[in-house]
Amino acid sequence: MEYVTLSNGVKMPILGYGVYQVSKEECERCVADALSVGYRSIDTAQSYFNEEQVGNAIVKSGISREDIFLTTKVWIEHYGYEEARKSVLKSMEKLQTDYLDLVLLHQPFSDYYGAYRALEDLYDEGKLRAIGVSNFYPDRLVDIVSFSRIKPMVNQIEVHPFNQQIEAKKWLNKYNVQIEAWAPFGEGRGGLFENPVLSEIAGKHNKTTAQVMLRWHIQRGVVVIPKSTHKERMEQNIQVFDFALDETDMDKITALDKAQSSFFSHSDPAMVEWFVQIIEERKGMK
Ligand code: NAP
Repeated sequence: MEYVTLSNGVKMPILGYGVYQVSKEECERCVADALSVGYRSIDTAQSYFNEEQVGNAIVKSGISREDIFLTTKVWIEHYGYEEARKSVLKSMEKLQTDYLDLVLLHQPFSDYYGAYRALEDLYDEGKLRAIGVSNFYPDRLVDIVSFSRIKPMVNQIEVHPFNQQIEAKKWLNKYNVQIEAWAPFGEGRGGLFENPVLSEIAGKHNKTTAQVMLRWHIQRGVVVIPKSTHKERMEQNIQVFDFALDETDMDKITALDKAQSSFFSHSDPAMVEWFVQIIEERKGMK
């Protein structure tokens, strides 16, 4: 495994396993499989509703807690200082751990400053080894870096060959914030797994397009957390440290950039309304 060093000196595996859209029923088995094939970094979130299952798999694996890098994210309805603090302590309980390696604010909406101050205090108390944000576009990122006591160490954003975040990456580099890719395969949207350019490069190295994409991220210094519920794909996705893309390969992939989201824009007011609607609907469910 290769590691990146965050701005506070903490080492984070450059490749981990993400559990978004992994159901409660499957999650414990999936995380157990991921750990058994060698993953040592797991990315979950309060809004994935599977923290308990992640915790169970880690405890049952018998792997020392300090050998695993564990990330969760605070969801918008838990923003504000008090609620965020309570929710992180609750996440720790579900994950069956007395500290977390990284906690991110999931979205740049509502009272994220209050929530961030709770993360800063939990960091000072030694309960969190690193703190950061997710889905913070460059304007929000510069804002929080400028007005926070402890600068975020990570920003987890959508990055894949069709949305390479070249501009955002420059801003993250400027402020020494580690870039982490969500949807490192763009969830396969737009035919990424079958893309002819990626297929040609994969053929040349006797690898799969998935492995080529992950290798491309890693060579750009981007942390990746691919998701799969299939053990053989989990194995495939971690076998990316035994080959290297050359400059021509990297340039060909750079040329695939459409510089736009394959999902949605967090700056689109209609999408902000959609997030508000989710929060309202969940209130109704309680
Ligand atoms: P992704 O990792 O880009 O793609 C996952 C998809 O690719 C699944 O459909 C999976 O199918 C398939 N796949 C995986 N490996 C494959 C392989 N070797 N060959 C062919 N298909 C393969 O998408 P993601 O799950 O959205 O993103 C990864 C992680 O990022 C998430 O799990 C989550 O932890 C994080 N995330 C964060 C945010 C955020 O807002 N911060 C948003 C989205 C995601 P199978 O499962 O059927 O194998």
